[in-house]
Amino acid sequence: MRHGRTKFHAALLQWYDAEARDLPWRRTQDPYCIWLSEIMMQQTRIDQGTPYYERFLKRFPDLQTLAQATEEAVLKQWEGLGYYSRARNLYRTAQILTDQYHGRFPESPEVLQLLPGIGKYTAGAIASIAFGVPVPVLDGNIKRVLARLYALVESIDLPATDKRLWELAAATLNVKRPGDHNQAMMELGARVCIPAGPLCFSCPVQRHCRAFSASLQDTLPHRTPKKVVPHHEMVVAVIANQDAYLIGKRPSQGFLGGLWEFPGDRIQKTEGCEDALRRIGEEMLRLKVVPGGLVAVVRHAYTHFKVTLHVYRCTAVKRRICSDAHTEYRWVTPDSFDQYPFPAGHHKFLKLL
Ligand code: SF4
Repeated sequence: MRHGRTKFHAALLQWYDAEARDLPWRRTQDPYCIWLSEIMMQQTRIDQGTPYYERFLKRFPDLQTLAQATEEAVLKQWEGLGYYSRARNLYRTAQILTDQYHGRFPESPEVLQLLPGIGKYTAGAIASIAFGVPVPVLDGNIKRVLARLYALVESIDLPATDKRLWELAAATLNVKRPGDHNQAMMELGARVCIPAGPLCFSCPVQRHCRAFSASLQDTLPHRTPKKVVPHHEMVVAVIANQDAYLIGKRPSQGFLGGLWEFPGDRIQKTEGCEDALRRIGEEMLRLKVVPGGLVAVVRHAYTHFKVTLHVYRCTAVKRRICSDAHTEYRWVTPDSFDQYPFPAGHHKFLKLL
């Protein structure tokens, strides 16, 4: 840190106090709201996530309401945000806090980290913002800001650098206003010290920045190259019986856990779409599926892979399903689709049914 920590703190908070965006969770110190916003915005852009945050709070205004809801109602409210384990963990944490913590959030970051879905970052955010505990946080934005402020040349994706960044976050923390400091660092990373082309000439902490003084701001931080994201071709069987369609519920644990979907699978190298649909019938559902026309071809990207869904209307010779691929099956009409949480990829073709 150049030119002293106290001056850095003053410059950062003066800028934050004047320039911070007016976000709904910044108008409160209620740990429930802080927790929800932190979980929700983890893998979501703020402009996309804010309407979800407001709708979620309207539906579940406090911990007790959330704990008393059904998991399906919580997933439904989360629908479209992705990373559904976040919603399941919110629900479990609400129940644990209600049952074991008298419906109150613990203030200690160490205790907060014992709760489902709350890691070191989220625990630090709740503790510092809601309770004023002097504890640092480190997210993607703060990593980038610190790597530039201290001109770190090691890749920020390495575990050793991560450890170093946590130490720097702690050393840089303003213990008098830890919550505001942490939010100011995030805000700086989101709006000024942005990934490509940082806006150094309007940066409130430019004189403290080693990367800027060494003209390294455009080359730091260094990253480890990412692996190529795999791409899968899949078929989806929209099996119709009169005006109802067959949907199955995915097991609670694992990818897209607890969501409802039309039966589908990856197309194997030796088969075409229709072969795959018949195989799904025989092996997954144990009923004879007769492929019909193509409804849609939908592309969707998850974090670790991309899919192209070839969606076919199908019929089945019998209606009784015998399968352990899903925990439950239902025949539902399109007017009740909105009662079921579906993966985001499904929403791209649901309206065509
Ligand atoms: Fe980031 Fe530039 Fe500010 Fe340094 S001077 S913290 S590189 S925006």
